[in-house]
Amino acid sequence: MSLDKPRTVLVCSCERSMPRFGASVVRGCKGARVEAGDQFCGAELDRVRSALSGGEAVTISCTQQAPLFGDLAEELGFAGDLVFANIRETGGWSQDAAAAGPKAAALLAMAAEPASPPALVTLSSNGVVLVYGCDATAIDAGRQLAEKLDVTVLLSRPRDIAPHRVWDFPVMQGTIRQARGHLGAFELTVDDFAAPNPSSRDRLGFGISRNGAVSNADIILDLSGGVPLFPAHELRDGYVKADPGDRASVAVAIARAADLVGEFDKPRFIDFSADLCAHSRSRITGCTRCLDLCPTGAIAPAGDHVAIDAEVCAGCGSCAAACPTGAAAYAVPDAESLLRRLRTLLVTYREAGGLDAIVLFHDLGHGEPLIDALARFGAGLPANVLPVAVNEITQLGVEAWTAPVAWGACAVRALSSAKPRHELTGIAANVAIANLLSRSLGYGAEVCGLIEADDPDILASALDLITPDVASRRPAAFLPLGKKRSLLTSTMLELHRAAPTPVDRVALPAAAPFGGLDVNVDGCTLCLSCVSA
Ligand code: SF4
Ligand code: SF4
Repeated sequence: MSLDKPRTVLVCSCERSMPRFGASVVRGCKGARVEAGDQFCGAELDRVRSALSGGEAVTISCTQQAPLFGDLAEELGFAGDLVFANIRETGGWSQDAAAAGPKAAALLAMAAEPASPPALVTLSSNGVVLVYGCDATAIDAGRQLAEKLDVTVLLSRPRDIAPHRVWDFPVMQGTIRQARGHLGAFELTVDDFAAPNPSSRDRLGFGISRNGAVSNADIILDLSGGVPLFPAHELRDGYVKADPGDRASVAVAIARAADLVGEFDKPRFIDFSADLCAHSRSRITGCTRCLDLCPTGAIAPAGDHVAIDAEVCAGCGSCAAACPTGAAAYAVPDAESLLRRLRTLLVTYREAGGLDAIVLFHDLGHGEPLIDALARFGAGLPANVLPVAVNEITQLGVEAWTAPVAWGACAVRALSSAKPRHELTGIAANVAIANLLSRSLGYGAEVCGLIEADDPDILASALDLITPDVASRRPAAFLPLGKKRSLLTSTMLELHRAAPTPVDRVALPAAAPFGGLDVNVDGCTLCLSCVSA
């Protein structure tokens, strides 16, 4: 890899707990000023100081001490590009450490690839909470929250509830029929809605009830013990649910609800282009892939296209990974940035002398701690396994699975929990297509796949089982440019160009997300319906 701007790369052996990878980094990161050291966070901190005073971009091979180096950069008024890469738990702390130099170079080079931050969505909550329950647990929770939040308790089919002595927050009767919205903007349709009788003496009585009442809230604390009000409810911002019979989880839920006041930013995970969406034309439904996969209900039909509610979206990326037209594109990072990182990783690895690269996609919440545990308490990652952190493994489209193969990887895996946060149906479909294409082009049988592991030893065994398939002997080096759909096209072309046994046609299964059309030109009447729809 060659650099687009002068860069100093500080490569630390972490008190000689791993090899000095300087020579490999010099080979892989051409043009960089590489300095190897043994304790940049302590005895050699002055070397970091002088690198940060030089005005060049700086990469430091340590994420553990990133806060320290960040503070130092701020103190020195460093305004340049400072990035960090973890080469220790990912490579240096491994029984394969002696051979991990090319990986260290590749990870350091990848870290320097820029990625623009995604746009943000702001959710505002004024602290109006609806506590939904059916017994005294909900009233107790309301009492605990009343000092911080504006509380209403809604009781579904209440029985034998003792009235408060002082009515310091409203307690109503009602059963939620429908709920929609998100933190700061919930709207509930309530049946059997009734106000309490002020004269309730030994137990709370209610007046005449009505159906279809509408209630709004910023936060819902659901202690009803019933069916969750939302699909994938744990992903709905502002909706907190606990089993009313479990006092510990009720206490945790109350504390969580109490904190949900103010403004909360989250990424706009999906970059949506309505004009590319093939949902419907002439009242004929053409595509429902994203609708079928979205776990949160954030996507709804909206005429010829769909609409994605960014406030409800939880960022799993399943829609973007499945979208055949690129209308729904993942933004954390965007597809071009992700592919650029992968290209830099694999090209640098090869230039630094690495062989048989296996790309291991993982997320930060589950995958990173597992890799960390494998390094600290087990054998560590093999030297040819190149970890790539993504926001969610479910965001990976066919282009992200196949481009590494074109760039010379002999296998690609994504690390998932055995109890994943998001459904894996979409990712499994993309793996199947990536494998079909790779197999048909001679790259091997099971080039892509998922590893489901919650235990570092299971991860290690799964990695051991990977037999490197046929990597391309003339790997591609194409620069990924453009949006998702054009990236997919260029990746397919390069996958074909670099293929060990290229074939010009691959039969895709029925309902595959892309492919060709055979038009019977003899039967065409030039009505133009197909092109104008
Ligand atoms: S998957 Fe893509 S093309 Fe299909 S309906 Fe969803 S956004 Fe539109
Ligand atoms: S990213 Fe996931 S939650 Fe968000 S709209 Fe797409 S499928 Fe739904």
